[in-house]
Amino acid sequence: MDKILQTDVKYVAGVGEVRARLLNKELGITTVGQLLEYYPHRYIDRTKVYLINEIHEDTATYVQFRARVAGISYAGAERNRRFHVMVQDATGSAELVWFKGVKWIEKRVEVGREYLIFGRPSFYKGQLQMVHPELETMEQALTKGVTCSMQGIYPSTEKISNSFGTKGMFRVMVHAWEIVRNHIGETLPESLITRYGLMSRREALQNIHFPETQELLRQAQYRLKFEELLGVQLNVQSRRCGRLSKDNGFLFPKVGGVFTRFYNEKLPFPLTGAQKRVIKEIRKDTISGYQMNRLLQGDVGSGKTLVALISMLLAVDNGFQACMMAPTEILARQHFATIRRMTEGLEVKVAILTGASKSRERREALEGIASGEVDILIGTHSLIEDKVKFRNLGFVVIDEQHRFGVEQRAKMWTKNLQPPHILVMTATPIPRTLAMTLYGDLDVSVIDELPPGRQPIKTFHYTDAARLRLFGFMKQEIKKGRQVYVVYPLIKESEAMDYKDLNDGYESISRDFPLPEYVTSICHGKMKPEDKEESMRQFKEHESDILVATSVIEVGVDVPNATVMVIESAERFGLSQLHQLRGRVGRGGEQSYCILMSGEKLSKEARARLNAMCETNDGFQLAELDLKLRGAGDVNGTQQSGMAFDLKIANPTADVQILSQARDAAEEILSADPTLSAPSNHGLQELKERFSAKEEIDFSRIS
Ligand code: ADP
Ligand code: MG
Repeated sequence: MDKILQTDVKYVAGVGEVRARLLNKELGITTVGQLLEYYPHRYIDRTKVYLINEIHEDTATYVQFRARVAGISYAGAERNRRFHVMVQDATGSAELVWFKGVKWIEKRVEVGREYLIFGRPSFYKGQLQMVHPELETMEQALTKGVTCSMQGIYPSTEKISNSFGTKGMFRVMVHAWEIVRNHIGETLPESLITRYGLMSRREALQNIHFPETQELLRQAQYRLKFEELLGVQLNVQSRRCGRLSKDNGFLFPKVGGVFTRFYNEKLPFPLTGAQKRVIKEIRKDTISGYQMNRLLQGDVGSGKTLVALISMLLAVDNGFQACMMAPTEILARQHFATIRRMTEGLEVKVAILTGASKSRERREALEGIASGEVDILIGTHSLIEDKVKFRNLGFVVIDEQHRFGVEQRAKMWTKNLQPPHILVMTATPIPRTLAMTLYGDLDVSVIDELPPGRQPIKTFHYTDAARLRLFGFMKQEIKKGRQVYVVYPLIKESEAMDYKDLNDGYESISRDFPLPEYVTSICHGKMKPEDKEESMRQFKEHESDILVATSVIEVGVDVPNATVMVIESAERFGLSQLHQLRGRVGRGGEQSYCILMSGEKLSKEARARLNAMCETNDGFQLAELDLKLRGAGDVNGTQQSGMAFDLKIANPTADVQILSQARDAAEEILSADPTLSAPSNHGLQELKERFSAKEEIDFSRIS
């Protein structure tokens, strides 16, 4: 790397000692090179001049237009006088308003004159308005050239913006660029640049900070994202080559007594075609000699647990232990109960370990797995603790993988001398390309078929006005012998209020659904584990008709007799959460319902979410919509995985397309030059270094 890039930022004009310390402390920036990789997170586009009638609610955050002043007026009392300016172009009119600095601005506005007006549009009764816009005469605007540029806005912290002001960072960047502009080397080989039509690194850096057009900005972003993702892929793919060239997988060649007896005597229903196919895929992996690393995607209620159980039985038949990790206590207990029931009378010992395990349960689990007496251990993330020592762990199931962090999952690898096979399961689908590329060598299985006889869940959106009708409907279902969930949101920031809502709701339901005709139970995170468990047991065994709960029951809970899911304040839940909650019903043969309750007033996005829920039951479709609504947000914790690689501009979720190109490129490069030792790959070697995972975790193995 060029020495100039190592220059201390304090030497950049406009920085100095104090701000340099701040940059280091707040943003970890110490050199000019690092400063240059501090990219704007958005741009104000001043390349387009709109006509007034082209500007709508969602045109852009900021817009500019040319218009002539038609008249001025004042409103309000003397001390807080407001200044109103009506302007017009050929297509319409707009109103500009000043609350502050009236004295200054009124001198600059001349009736009849044309101005370039820039600001944040808002609408009042259909009329375009702008509060405190920037205003320039056309002559001024043309000489300053403001109309034709894109202004980068840098992400900031409070301290940074106090010190630098709104445009300060931009000015610093201009000076920094002067220092380094002739010292930016190329990292990528010429062949890649031509092949993918990339900008040079120098052009890209210039245009990411000071783009002249949208198109140049787009090209700059593409180039820089491609480079980052290529850096990640070079790491992921070269590890994959390492893994596949070794024989390091446990072998499960035997289909023994446990499996066969379970299949012939215990299986409560025939497997679906999709379940059978996935089990075959797992069979194939576990006799291949390679260590399995498989992601199982299947919508809520598609029967993933059974696939997991059957796979674990295969491990047991071959002399290995298996474990299954679930994200919540409730779910772990449920899996434990189901699996123990289903394996009754077979030669399989099942134990449970969670954070809430009492000393006896804990001792039994820990001693049992250490001695080898326990074959299958079910639990929460307690399973990854160091004191959990298996005699011979061969197969790990991670249920609802999106609930676990990367590091937690990685720990399961160290639970035997050789890493066990890993099956991770999720109902929250990640687009296939994303999963494959981000996680490198993860194989993906899909259950795309629900067990037979399921009827699609009917979903409705009601407001509070319909509460009486809702209660009537609940009673009707309960009379038919069905059960009902009522779920309240619980968010840390508003925890006290949320608990109040929950308790109020519980009381009101207990009143409206009186004993002995109706039994209502409650379940939430603040209850003692044994009370929670008792509550769940009651509901599961149909001793209660209604379960009032927080989203603790969101994932995994399985009570097939429940047919109604009422979600209170549904507008406060995310789309995937709503879908998960809905998945708690529709698990038996009966028609099931999901009722989304909300207030009258809803934001545009909330309405879109609720509408989508009413329109489709398809988890994949909803996941895609979620991605769109949330933009480049933190879908499925992929952001977290992204962070592990220190990405500055690429977002693996939003940039799937580029990710898959980078993956192809990395594969091709590595197959020709696995160690990147050719002189033309020198830059790539450096790039790979830069994006190697920060911690000592083998990310290619993690799902
Ligand atoms: P998920 O994939 O959401 O984890 P579960 O494993 O909890 O789904 O299964 C949902 C329900 O479907 C359970 O009640 C389970 O017993 C039932 N089930 C699973 N497989 C089948 C099948 N092949 N036929 C009928 N019901 C099944
Ligand atoms: Mg499940």
